[in-house]
Amino acid sequence: MTKPLPTVDAMTAPYWEAAQRGELLVPECDSCGHKHFPAEAVCPKCLSNWHWATSPGVGTVYSFSVVRRPAGPGFPDVYVLALVELSDGGWLMTTNIVDIDPDDVRVGLPVKVDFRKESEAISLPYFIPA
Ligand SMILES: [Zn+2]
Repeated sequence: MTKPLPTVDAMTAPYWEAAQRGELLVPECDSCGHKHFPAEAVCPKCLSNWHWATSPGVGTVYSFSVVRRPAGPGFPDVYVLALVELSDGGWLMTTNIVDIDPDDVRVGLPVKVDFRKESEAISLPYFIPA
């Protein structure tokens, strides 16, 4: 079995289309400029509308956990679930850190986004050491 993939809807379609081009998008508030992830109907800080902004996709590991019991079929036996703090505004994104020994991941490790094609419609944003 393969692991479950995100469902694309009207709100998130631009995000997934950009991901297929290797571009990371983030919701940015039209009013206060706050960046949040994942996308919500309105800015969680001031309830204003938001637009998709391009992120350089670089940051540091904010927090992480090494998962040694896979979440389900299709997941690796061992993987790193992490919160990455992005350099463009300090927003946090839940992701996996890959291409590194899980025991070498540390808080503060510089990382950058790396998209991996999972299906025809979905490329997932993983992070690798920068
Ligand atoms: Zn706002």
